[in-house]
Amino acid sequence: MAKLTVKDIQSELAGKKILVRVDFNVPIKDGVITNDNRITAALPTIKFILENHGRAILFSHLGRVKTEEDKAGKSLAPVAKDLSEKLGQPVVFIPGVTRGPELEAAINKLKDGEILLVENTRFEDVDGKKESKNDPELGKYWASLGDGIFVNDAFGTAHRAHASNVGISANVKQAVAGFLMENEINYIQEAVENPVRPFVAILGGSKVSDKIGVIENLLKKADKVIVGGGMAYTFFKAEGHEIGDSLVEDDKLDLAKELLAKADGKLILPVDSKEANAFANYTEVKDTEGIDIDPGFMGLDAGPKTIAEFGKELAGAKTVVWNGPVGVFENPDFQAGTIGVMDAIVAQPGVKSIIGGGDSAAAAINLGYADKFSWISTGGGASMELLEGKVLPGLAALTDK
Ligand code: AMP
Repeated sequence: MAKLTVKDIQSELAGKKILVRVDFNVPIKDGVITNDNRITAALPTIKFILENHGRAILFSHLGRVKTEEDKAGKSLAPVAKDLSEKLGQPVVFIPGVTRGPELEAAINKLKDGEILLVENTRFEDVDGKKESKNDPELGKYWASLGDGIFVNDAFGTAHRAHASNVGISANVKQAVAGFLMENEINYIQEAVENPVRPFVAILGGSKVSDKIGVIENLLKKADKVIVGGGMAYTFFKAEGHEIGDSLVEDDKLDLAKELLAKADGKLILPVDSKEANAFANYTEVKDTEGIDIDPGFMGLDAGPKTIAEFGKELAGAKTVVWNGPVGVFENPDFQAGTIGVMDAIVAQPGVKSIIGGGDSAAAAINLGYADKFSWISTGGGASMELLEGKVLPGLAALTDK
């Protein structure tokens, strides 16, 4: 990686107030964290700072906060408690406070190896979106709370230029990547920019419009781009096939045609579907003969021929990037395609297999494949932008090696 990492500055951590941006944007229901993956993913960096006698001052956003009323239920208090349990030590936390003398006093009281979590950075959005619009004064103020070192481990927000990542980076001596950030960048960026070939990408999910940039970039970089899921039916309609009541974006038909023409045979589509006569409460489910969907039906998963075909396309792949389920995986009746794809990916000997976050990460974790992939990204939007070949502002703002 071209940026400094926390490992590079290990000898400089002791006795210093180290500012750390983490991504603790976790789902919380009735005060209870329902998925703590992101907290767990940040532990290596936090522990490294504490074990090296740094004083860690953590920042994170949680959800969206636009009004005073939005603050209810958006406090990081449950996260502070969970983090304290995970670390086995107290985490100083002042509810509702993102700046001011009380916060500054608590920070100045920290001893080496101690930790404080600042309240939800987006509480600053109530008054003129200071966090989300990267208010220069706010970034400067937060940077002033530390001793000139900032560790950014929040990959999930690296595609945004906010005060708590880009703003702080601009006002410290050294802004470095944490271990999670480093891993995410190394796995995803390396796969796209410098892949061991053959490199196969699999893209699914509901909408073509969400993934145009990803498809275009990966058609340039990958040896094959497999497109499945709801997205495929827009391509099929563009090719003149019958798609029944399947998901379609009629305003993207020309674009689909263009992509197919540009792809020069690299773009691989399903060859059959599992179709049902409704999205929910259906009374009939069957496999189609070929690509065409029967009238009154909708394609909700890859059919058996497609699963076999995708398996052949993946055979021998050394790098696979997967983003988006190839069927309505939330429903057990339409999981076979997504499971088939996962089985085919993880079966390739020596493959570097990367899941680009979001729904496909959820599918892999929920269906028991979490340990079988080389890397499952913690960032949906950020990993999509890396796959599009975009520069992530949160990463760009870090200090070069
Ligand atoms: P995305 O957020 O665009 O990655 O889309 C993920 C969603 O696409 C999941 O909720 C899937 O249920 C859905 N999906 C996948 N295949 C289909 C399909 N054939 N028809 C409708 N929705 C689908």
